[in-house]
Amino acid sequence: MAPRLLHPGPIFALSIIGFCFLTSIITILSWLPPNNTKNILNGVIFHFWVLNILKNFFKASFMGPGHIEFKWKPKRKSDEKLLQYCECCEGYKAPRAHHCKTCKRCVMKMDHHCPWINNCVGHYNHKSFTYFLFFVVVGCSHAAVMMILCIIDHITSKNGYILLRVYEEAMIRMNHYLIIMLFFGIGLSVGCTLAVSFLLYYQVKSIVKNRTGIEDWIVEKAISRNKHIGRTFVYPYDLGKKENIKQVVLWSADYTGDGITWPVVKGCDQYTLTIEQLEQKDLKRDRMVPYHVTKSYSGTWCPLMLGCRVLYDCPWSDEARLKVNEGDTFFGSRHKKHWIYGERVLDEDSKEVQEHKLGELRRKKGWVPRVHLQPIDDKDEETSSDDDRRIEQLKKDKERTKKQGKESKKKR
Ligand SMILES: [Zn+2]
Ligand SMILES: [Zn+2]
Repeated sequence: MAPRLLHPGPIFALSIIGFCFLTSIITILSWLPPNNTKNILNGVIFHFWVLNILKNFFKASFMGPGHIEFKWKPKRKSDEKLLQYCECCEGYKAPRAHHCKTCKRCVMKMDHHCPWINNCVGHYNHKSFTYFLFFVVVGCSHAAVMMILCIIDHITSKNGYILLRVYEEAMIRMNHYLIIMLFFGIGLSVGCTLAVSFLLYYQVKSIVKNRTGIEDWIVEKAISRNKHIGRTFVYPYDLGKKENIKQVVLWSADYTGDGITWPVVKGCDQYTLTIEQLEQKDLKRDRMVPYHVTKSYSGTWCPLMLGCRVLYDCPWSDEARLKVNEGDTFFGSRHKKHWIYGERVLDEDSKEVQEHKLGELRRKKGWVPRVHLQPIDDKDEETSSDDDRRIEQLKKDKERTKKQGKESKKKR
């Protein structure tokens, strides 16, 4: 359990929560000491938020999203062709499941990988993660309001120690160091409230639409693609606002269903979205541009030797940089001015694949600097070879006519 939290994300998140809690406790003890019902009630409510933040944080982190088991197959053999295959997990991806590169597993109803809980957000922990965000927003706003009012009271008083004078039973004597701490506490609480509100908004939207962040992408492409060919795409999991909310927000359980089969709207089936995904993937493959790797690239994040332009154009994402060897074939799917994103497909018999039992290395994806690649254009190759042949023929013809000319001169 502990290793899950021994990562920079959870350590950072818990430190922020801890600091905001500490500064709030200082505020409560010095400015709102539990000597009357109002203050006691305030303290109890504040602790309720904190307990719920921690409870849902640990739940979301430890429970995880639920994984599709290794080598998973649908019950009916005929359904296999309607699903995507995951080479890493050596099994099929169940409907709504996606492979997480960080967790190295196929995740049930994957939304995203959250670095703060160091786990994916998916089927099992969707509710606890959303509750965690909600309680952070409420708890941090409560803390920020308490600290701001405390500081205003402190600043507007003639005597720096007004807090003690007004509340004689105050348990902590406020001094300038503590005031500086409170300022930091206010900054963190307000920052957390704003940042987490933004995340909470997207989570609520995703619950109301019953559509994860990844599915948003797929549906967006599906709608525009189907429009082109005169079809209407129906998203199969949108059961109506009330039913959608019921799928995640439950009183008695953390989640409902097995994470593999899902309730769908009329006219759709379990594979409506997976078929669309397969079609989108085929289209993407058709559009991929093949390249020859002309020079090996180590996969370094900052290729200083390639100059400022390549560095400046560096993709600002956590997507991998791909190690490629001279002579490899690379398929580019996204293009920047100096970088290309794509995949390198290795032979099943290649040394690298043989050494790793998982098929993980067969299809490696990532960014490669454009200067290491040369496009393979079949048409160009054909025309150039045709041209070469034609040029060769012309040369031979010229030589032949020269020879014939010389021979005829000699004869004369
Ligand atoms: Zn997988
Ligand atoms: Zn993950």
